[in-house]
Amino acid sequence: MSEADFIKRIEAVASQYGNRFLLEPAPDDRLPEHGMTAVDAMRLIGEELVLDGIPQRNLATFVTTWMEPEAQRVIAENLHRNFIDHAEYPQTAEIEQRCIRMLADLFHAPGETTGARTQGSSEAIMLGGLSLKWKWRERREKAGKDTTRPNLVFGGDVHVVWEKFCRYFDVEPRIIPLQPDRLTIGPEDVEPYVDENTIGVAAVLGTTFTGHADDVGGINDLLVRLRESKGFDVPLHVDAASGGFVWPFLYPDTAWDFRLEQVRSINVSGHKYGLVYPGIGWLVFRERSDLAEDLVFYENYLGKTDATFTLNFSTGSSMVLAQYYNFVRFGREGYRYIMETMQENARRLAQAIADMGPFRLVGTPGAEQLPLVAFQLAEERGYDEFDIASQLAAERGWMVPAYTLPPNADHVTIMRALVKLTLGHGMALTLASDLAAACDTLDRKGGLHELDRKRVKTGTGY
Ligand SMILES: *Cc1c(COP(=O)(O)O)cnc(C)c1O
Repeated sequence: MSEADFIKRIEAVASQYGNRFLLEPAPDDRLPEHGMTAVDAMRLIGEELVLDGIPQRNLATFVTTWMEPEAQRVIAENLHRNFIDHAEYPQTAEIEQRCIRMLADLFHAPGETTGARTQGSSEAIMLGGLSLKWKWRERREKAGKDTTRPNLVFGGDVHVVWEKFCRYFDVEPRIIPLQPDRLTIGPEDVEPYVDENTIGVAAVLGTTFTGHADDVGGINDLLVRLRESKGFDVPLHVDAASGGFVWPFLYPDTAWDFRLEQVRSINVSGHKYGLVYPGIGWLVFRERSDLAEDLVFYENYLGKTDATFTLNFSTGSSMVLAQYYNFVRFGREGYRYIMETMQENARRLAQAIADMGPFRLVGTPGAEQLPLVAFQLAEERGYDEFDIASQLAAERGWMVPAYTLPPNADHVTIMRALVKLTLGHGMALTLASDLAAACDTLDRKGGLHELDRKRVKTGTGY
């Protein structure tokens, strides 16, 4: 039989037994002329995604990779509900407001306040930053002063979104460099950068690099002092993308939130330690007046007046509902249990890694930190952290990123493993022994030849 005949025969029976993409390439450059059966479409996508990493072995991401089946059901059953249609779905809008009130309370807001559901912390930071800029301009205009040179002060330990905000919205970024032995910032670092054109200072609670917090309390005290001595009323925004759901449960006595008077706004990612799948973040203001009124749009849409403060318009309701699901499902006790469990497993993993020999831990033992383990090679070997990351991925599929720190600590390379709910005690110890095995392989190979190095460029900030 010729090859052409063979293919014809196979195609004839494929509709019965197979999947046409066993013999055809997947459409990849133009909308195909004809469609396919639902099953073929589903299989086509499913088969390709097998090539992606398994999310539960992705220890690089802070974002949720597992939710309970009941939560998944809430999500699946509400995908058709456009969140922005407040008039049509008033109860969904009410549930969003409940989440905002619960977060404001968790963050010790002094009274009634306001906030917004966002796509994630990035949108929350854009909106929070805009409000800082607008409020600064109002203050300057009132005082008859120049409004053309706004600046924003933050450390090199922030997420890239802060620089993005500055570029998109025309604000001068004043970035405080880190030091190799100091990977967060405090008041003495901030002070020289603040002036009358500073729209705000951003402090991080749980950096993406090592999981530690800036000295939010110290920065607050500095800003209070500057207000009293120089008359600059500089607001403090806390980027609690990760830390906002960790600190209230692990370190309830540490004041980083609205207990500090200069903290005017806070963002948190619902899809990180809020334990919801990607697509949800929150912005919470200290008081209603901290949201610049000019940024709120009152529109008459489909017969009802609605106030919106967002960069997007249409979006799903599922993740808002999933956030509320977690709030009522876990309560404070549940979140505390989950955070403590992750912290305990992170501690055990850290101990196992420290005992292994080649590594030392990054960070001060006992410092307040997100549940993760940051570590680096303790001494020169024939290979580096990037090689270990590749080897670990090759041997067991673990995604543990290696990366360099921001300036002026950019010659420092570290690795970091997030310890989430799906990395239980046994899994954490398996990871530790896999890490030791990866080092053994590299030792046996005598390190990798320079040309063979596959530098897996793994970002850290997602
Ligand atoms: C993840 C993260 C962000 C960005 O948040 P998204 O929710 O991914 O948009 C900003 N800041 C910090 C500190 C983060 O960890």
